[in-house]
Amino acid sequence: MRYGIISDIHGNLEAFDAVLEALEQEDIEVYLCLGDIVGYGANPNECLGRVWELTSEVIAGNHDHAAVGKLDIISFNHMAAEAALWTMQHLTRTARHYLRELPLTRRHGHILAVHGAPTQPDKWPYLITLDQVAVEFPALPDDTTLCVVGHTHTPGIFEMNDAEEDCRHIHGYTYQMQSECRYIVNVGSVGQPRDGDSRAAFCVYDTETYLLEIKRTTYDIESAQKKICRAGLPDMLAERLAYGQ
Ligand code: ZN
Repeated sequence: MRYGIISDIHGNLEAFDAVLEALEQEDIEVYLCLGDIVGYGANPNECLGRVWELTSEVIAGNHDHAAVGKLDIISFNHMAAEAALWTMQHLTRTARHYLRELPLTRRHGHILAVHGAPTQPDKWPYLITLDQVAVEFPALPDDTTLCVVGHTHTPGIFEMNDAEEDCRHIHGYTYQMQSECRYIVNVGSVGQPRDGDSRAAFCVYDTETYLLEIKRTTYDIESAQKKICRAGLPDMLAERLAYGQ
Protein backbone atom coordinates (compact mmCIF):
# COMPACT_ATOMS: atom_id res chain seq x y z
CA MET A 1 0.00 0.00 0.00
CA ARG A 2 1.31 3.45 -0.87
CA TYR A 3 0.29 6.30 1.40
CA GLY A 4 0.43 10.02 0.62
CA ILE A 5 0.52 11.96 3.88
CA ILE A 6 0.02 15.71 4.10
CA SER A 7 -0.31 18.21 6.94
CA ASP A 8 -0.56 21.91 7.76
CA ILE A 9 -1.91 23.15 4.44
CA HIS A 10 -3.01 26.38 6.17
CA GLY A 11 -5.16 27.76 3.37
CA ASN A 12 -2.24 27.94 0.92
CA LEU A 13 -3.89 26.77 -2.31
CA GLU A 14 -0.81 27.31 -4.50
CA ALA A 15 1.30 25.05 -2.28
CA PHE A 16 -1.45 22.45 -1.96
CA ASP A 17 -2.05 22.23 -5.72
CA ALA A 18 1.69 21.78 -6.33
CA VAL A 19 1.79 18.96 -3.75
CA LEU A 20 -1.28 17.29 -5.26
CA GLU A 21 0.36 17.43 -8.67
CA ALA A 22 3.57 15.89 -7.30
CA LEU A 23 1.59 13.15 -5.53
CA GLU A 24 -0.15 12.24 -8.79
CA GLN A 25 3.16 10.70 -9.92
CA GLU A 26 3.42 8.52 -6.79
CA ASP A 27 0.71 5.84 -7.30
CA ILE A 28 -0.87 6.75 -3.98
CA GLU A 29 -3.66 4.46 -2.77
CA VAL A 30 -4.55 6.15 0.53
CA TYR A 31 -4.24 9.82 1.42
CA LEU A 32 -4.00 10.91 5.05
CA CYS A 33 -4.43 14.56 6.03
CA LEU A 34 -3.14 15.52 9.48
CA GLY A 35 -5.00 18.77 10.05
CA ASP A 36 -4.47 22.53 10.08
CA ILE A 37 -6.14 22.74 6.69
CA VAL A 38 -7.01 26.38 7.46
CA GLY A 39 -5.44 29.36 9.24
CA TYR A 40 -2.73 31.79 7.95
CA GLY A 41 -3.46 31.46 4.20
CA ALA A 42 -6.06 33.21 2.04
CA ASN A 43 -7.86 30.16 0.58
CA PRO A 44 -9.29 28.14 3.48
CA ASN A 45 -12.53 27.12 1.73
CA GLU A 46 -10.77 26.11 -1.48
CA CYS A 47 -8.23 23.99 0.41
CA LEU A 48 -11.01 22.32 2.38
CA GLY A 49 -12.79 21.51 -0.87
CA ARG A 50 -9.66 19.84 -2.25
CA VAL A 51 -9.18 17.78 0.93
CA TRP A 52 -12.83 16.73 0.89
CA GLU A 53 -12.45 15.46 -2.69
CA LEU A 54 -9.14 13.76 -1.94
CA THR A 55 -9.83 11.65 1.15
CA SER A 56 -12.02 10.97 4.15
CA GLU A 57 -8.94 10.08 6.21
CA VAL A 58 -8.64 13.50 7.83
CA ILE A 59 -8.06 14.73 11.39
CA ALA A 60 -8.32 18.16 12.99
CA GLY A 61 -5.47 20.49 13.90
CA ASN A 62 -5.52 23.30 16.47
CA HIS A 63 -6.11 25.95 13.77
CA ASP A 64 -9.09 23.99 12.44
CA HIS A 65 -10.57 23.96 15.95
CA ALA A 66 -9.79 27.65 16.49
CA ALA A 67 -11.52 28.58 13.23
CA VAL A 68 -14.80 27.05 14.42
CA GLY A 69 -14.61 28.20 18.03
CA LYS A 70 -13.65 24.80 19.47
CA LEU A 71 -10.32 26.19 20.74
CA ASP A 72 -9.86 29.52 22.51
CA ILE A 73 -7.42 31.69 20.53
CA ILE A 74 -6.03 33.06 23.79
CA SER A 75 -3.33 30.40 23.39
CA PHE A 76 -2.36 31.82 19.96
CA ASN A 77 0.27 34.49 19.30
CA HIS A 78 -0.95 37.80 17.89
CA MET A 79 -0.48 36.86 14.22
CA ALA A 80 -2.07 33.42 14.57
CA ALA A 81 -5.01 34.92 16.46
CA GLU A 82 -5.55 37.57 13.78
CA ALA A 83 -5.45 34.89 11.08
CA ALA A 84 -7.87 32.68 13.05
CA LEU A 85 -10.37 35.53 13.35
CA TRP A 86 -10.07 36.26 9.63
CA THR A 87 -10.59 32.57 8.83
CA MET A 88 -13.58 32.37 11.16
CA GLN A 89 -15.20 35.25 9.28
CA HIS A 90 -14.53 33.80 5.83
CA LEU A 91 -15.39 30.11 6.19
CA THR A 92 -18.54 28.91 4.46
CA ARG A 93 -21.22 27.20 6.52
CA THR A 94 -20.35 23.85 4.90
CA ALA A 95 -16.66 24.32 5.73
CA ARG A 96 -17.47 25.13 9.34
CA HIS A 97 -19.61 22.03 9.68
CA TYR A 98 -16.90 19.88 8.09
CA LEU A 99 -14.18 21.17 10.44
CA ARG A 100 -16.33 20.77 13.53
CA GLU A 101 -16.84 17.07 12.82
CA LEU A 102 -13.20 16.08 12.28
CA PRO A 103 -11.76 13.59 14.80
CA LEU A 104 -8.50 14.22 16.69
CA THR A 105 -6.88 10.89 15.80
CA ARG A 106 -7.32 8.22 13.19
CA ARG A 107 -6.01 4.70 12.63
CA HIS A 108 -5.28 3.23 9.23
CA GLY A 109 -3.72 -0.25 9.34
CA HIS A 110 -0.69 0.02 11.59
CA ILE A 111 -0.55 3.81 11.21
CA LEU A 112 -1.78 6.30 13.81
CA ALA A 113 -2.42 9.87 12.66
CA VAL A 114 -2.44 12.74 15.16
CA HIS A 115 -1.82 16.46 14.60
CA GLY A 116 0.35 17.25 17.64
CA ALA A 117 1.26 14.38 19.97
CA PRO A 118 -0.26 10.94 20.65
CA THR A 119 -0.27 11.39 24.46
CA GLN A 120 -2.37 14.56 24.32
CA PRO A 121 -4.17 14.86 20.97
CA ASP A 122 -6.44 17.62 22.33
CA LYS A 123 -3.65 19.70 23.94
CA TRP A 124 -1.46 20.22 20.88
CA PRO A 125 2.02 20.13 22.45
CA TYR A 126 4.99 20.59 20.09
CA LEU A 127 7.29 17.62 19.58
CA ILE A 128 10.64 19.23 18.81
CA THR A 129 13.43 17.64 20.85
CA LEU A 130 14.39 13.98 20.94
CA ASP A 131 13.37 13.82 24.62
CA GLN A 132 9.91 15.17 23.81
CA VAL A 133 9.46 12.57 21.08
CA ALA A 134 10.89 9.66 23.13
CA VAL A 135 8.19 9.90 25.81
CA GLU A 136 5.48 9.61 23.15
CA PHE A 137 6.44 6.09 22.03
CA PRO A 138 5.07 4.25 25.10
CA ALA A 139 1.69 5.92 24.44
CA LEU A 140 1.37 4.31 21.02
CA PRO A 141 -0.99 1.32 20.73
CA ASP A 142 0.95 -1.98 20.49
CA ASP A 143 0.06 -2.58 16.86
CA THR A 144 1.14 0.91 15.78
CA THR A 145 4.51 0.88 14.05
CA LEU A 146 4.20 4.35 12.54
CA CYS A 147 2.73 7.50 14.06
CA VAL A 148 2.50 10.45 11.68
CA VAL A 149 2.27 14.00 13.04
CA GLY A 150 2.42 17.62 11.87
CA HIS A 151 2.01 20.81 13.94
CA THR A 152 5.64 22.01 14.18
CA HIS A 153 5.90 22.51 10.39
CA THR A 154 9.34 20.90 10.62
CA PRO A 155 9.83 17.49 9.00
CA GLY A 156 11.68 14.78 10.88
CA ILE A 157 11.96 11.01 11.29
CA PHE A 158 12.33 9.52 14.79
CA GLU A 159 13.12 5.84 15.32
CA MET A 160 12.57 3.81 18.48
CA ASN A 161 14.19 0.44 18.97
CA ASP A 162 12.14 -0.90 21.90
CA ALA A 163 14.42 -3.87 22.55
CA GLU A 164 17.43 -1.60 22.95
CA GLU A 165 15.44 1.30 24.43
CA ASP A 166 17.15 3.51 21.91
CA CYS A 167 15.40 6.53 20.39
CA ARG A 168 17.12 8.50 17.67
CA HIS A 169 16.55 11.30 15.19
CA ILE A 170 17.27 10.05 11.68
CA HIS A 171 19.26 12.48 9.56
CA GLY A 172 17.85 12.94 6.10
CA TYR A 173 14.39 12.56 4.65
CA THR A 174 14.50 9.26 2.75
CA TYR A 175 14.69 6.28 5.02
CA GLN A 176 14.46 2.52 4.81
CA MET A 177 12.50 1.70 7.93
CA GLN A 178 13.52 -1.29 10.06
CA SER A 179 10.91 -3.93 10.89
CA GLU A 180 12.08 -4.21 14.52
CA CYS A 181 11.62 -0.47 15.17
CA ARG A 182 8.70 1.95 15.59
CA TYR A 183 8.53 5.46 14.18
CA ILE A 184 7.17 8.90 14.84
CA VAL A 185 7.40 10.96 11.67
CA ASN A 186 6.67 14.64 11.26
CA VAL A 187 5.66 14.99 7.61
CA GLY A 188 6.35 18.76 7.48
CA SER A 189 4.00 21.45 6.23
CA VAL A 190 2.39 21.92 2.83
CA GLY A 191 1.47 25.56 3.23
CA GLN A 192 3.90 27.15 5.69
CA PRO A 193 7.20 25.24 6.09
CA ARG A 194 9.35 26.43 9.00
CA ASP A 195 12.59 24.52 8.50
CA GLY A 196 14.26 27.17 6.37
CA ASP A 197 13.22 25.45 3.12
CA SER A 198 10.40 27.37 1.43
CA ARG A 199 9.28 24.41 -0.68
CA ALA A 200 6.04 22.62 0.24
CA ALA A 201 6.55 19.31 2.11
CA PHE A 202 4.70 15.98 1.90
CA CYS A 203 5.34 12.36 2.75
CA VAL A 204 5.14 9.11 0.79
CA TYR A 205 5.18 5.80 2.64
CA ASP A 206 5.22 2.36 1.02
CA THR A 207 4.19 -0.52 3.29
CA GLU A 208 5.70 -3.12 0.94
CA THR A 209 9.19 -1.69 0.55
CA TYR A 210 9.04 -0.02 3.99
CA LEU A 211 10.50 3.08 2.39
CA LEU A 212 9.56 6.43 3.85
CA GLU A 213 10.22 9.65 1.96
CA ILE A 214 9.61 13.26 2.92
CA LYS A 215 9.61 15.14 -0.34
CA ARG A 216 9.52 18.80 -1.34
CA THR A 217 8.11 20.69 -4.26
CA THR A 218 8.37 24.30 -5.37
CA TYR A 219 5.23 26.35 -5.86
CA ASP A 220 4.12 29.86 -6.81
CA ILE A 221 4.99 31.57 -3.52
CA GLU A 222 4.49 35.06 -4.96
CA SER A 223 0.88 34.36 -5.86
CA ALA A 224 0.12 32.97 -2.36
CA GLN A 225 1.80 36.05 -0.84
CA LYS A 226 -0.20 38.50 -2.93
CA LYS A 227 -3.46 36.85 -1.88
CA ILE A 228 -2.52 37.05 1.81
CA CYS A 229 -1.75 40.78 1.52
CA ARG A 230 -4.85 41.50 -0.53
CA ALA A 231 -7.02 39.65 2.00
CA GLY A 232 -5.83 42.01 4.74
CA LEU A 233 -4.04 39.26 6.66
CA PRO A 234 -0.79 40.28 8.44
CA ASP A 235 2.02 41.00 5.90
CA MET A 236 4.40 38.87 7.92
CA LEU A 237 2.34 35.78 7.00
CA ALA A 238 3.20 36.49 3.37
CA GLU A 239 6.85 37.34 4.03
CA ARG A 240 7.63 34.20 6.01
CA LEU A 241 6.63 31.93 3.09
CA ALA A 242 9.67 33.13 1.14
CA TYR A 243 12.04 32.10 3.93
CA GLY A 244 10.33 28.88 4.98
CA GLN A 245 9.87 30.21 8.49
ZN1 ZN B 1 -0.01 24.22 11.68
